[in-house]
Amino acid sequence: MIIGVPKETFPGERRVAIVPASIPLLTKAKCEVVVEDGAGLAAGYTDAAYTEKGAKLLPTRAEVFAGSDAVIQVLCYGANDQTGRDDLSLMRSGQVLVGFLRPLGSPQTVAEIAAKGLTAFSVELMPRITRSQNMDALSAMATVCGYKAVLLAADALPRFFPMLTTAAGTITPARVLVLGAGVAGLQAIATARRLGAVASAYDVRPAVKEQIQSLGGRYVELPLETGQSQDHRGYAKQQDETFLQRQRELLTRVVSESDVVICTATVPGKRAPLLITADMVKRMAPGSVVVDLASERGGNCELTRLNERITAHGVTIFGYFNLASTVPYHASQMYSRNLTAFLLHLLKDGQLNVDIQDEITRETLVARDGAVVHRLLTPAQPQPAAPQPS
Ligand code: NAD
Repeated sequence: MIIGVPKETFPGERRVAIVPASIPLLTKAKCEVVVEDGAGLAAGYTDAAYTEKGAKLLPTRAEVFAGSDAVIQVLCYGANDQTGRDDLSLMRSGQVLVGFLRPLGSPQTVAEIAAKGLTAFSVELMPRITRSQNMDALSAMATVCGYKAVLLAADALPRFFPMLTTAAGTITPARVLVLGAGVAGLQAIATARRLGAVASAYDVRPAVKEQIQSLGGRYVELPLETGQSQDHRGYAKQQDETFLQRQRELLTRVVSESDVVICTATVPGKRAPLLITADMVKRMAPGSVVVDLASERGGNCELTRLNERITAHGVTIFGYFNLASTVPYHASQMYSRNLTAFLLHLLKDGQLNVDIQDEITRETLVARDGAVVHRLLTPAQPQPAAPQPS
């Protein structure tokens, strides 16, 4: 099987799907790897590094698509809503596509890819089970985003993060609040602590309390009935507006006492919950910072503007998305390890083996044989009618 790695084309994207260190693992599994000229340069991986590890370079994107059985990308058409559509004309029936496809956000693009006859796997849908931990690209990228969000905040905050005892007096540490303690949130807590800030975090899933505390964070407990806040996959369930309204009321004081708020709260396939209103921003001290990692999903803060840095009521609000791309060397390394593990899982004797009895394969497969095949993307099958009482 020939695996193709085109250059990413989403504006500003600096990651690459496969890094040179992964190539020997793929060649050992009887694959060849072809890489577009310069595909890894923006992430710090030279063309020479690829050829040294046994990859073949091809000068154009069209040649990579034409010469590969499987195309591996970071942002495929769907996740890349700017330039991804151009790839449709390069795709061919029978080809395999693996990467972020944003299937729940843009199901119509999956339908277009299916109509081209591709077998497509969406890494967003990777089940969160022990067996697939090393294939979990969402977690890897969330780790990068959580880290970078804190660095952005530290840079913009007109205060120190750590406590300092100096001849010029004692400096009190910054107070960082993290809303949503999933993978990105936990990394944000860890990074804020490393920089010496006092970190606290809130999540709708009480199960995260110990994880927050084990990182040296304080768990913010709100008197809210969360009930069954978590689904069987470990994700938060969507809460109703009454719950969210009460949540905002209770968070108002905690937010106003924080120098930095890192927002990471999301619910898969839904708009991100609104946790910080404009009025709550107004109550924050001037110079405070909000980094809204949920911006692409509508934002946790009412004032967030997608991909912008704004100042409102004296508070700096970052709505940047795709922060993973701003740490491209390690983000690519992590993604490449995830994707290589996934490809090795899909391969048998150097050929693609689509075994839908296997949970990892079944849950990530979105298109096959000209059709959209994922249960989350196809209309529910009609259930047999229940017998009616006579
Ligand atoms: P995510 O990005 O979907 O959401 C981020 C966080 O926001 C979650 O912790 C969620 O509970 C929280 N949230 C949602 N609505 C909220 C609200 N109204 N108020 C406050 N917080 C809210 O989540 P994620 O980071 O992808 O992780 C989801 C779960 O999956 C976590 O339990 C994580 O530990 C687990 N996980 C498991 C594995 C594995 O076992 N292989 C791998 C990765 C993640």
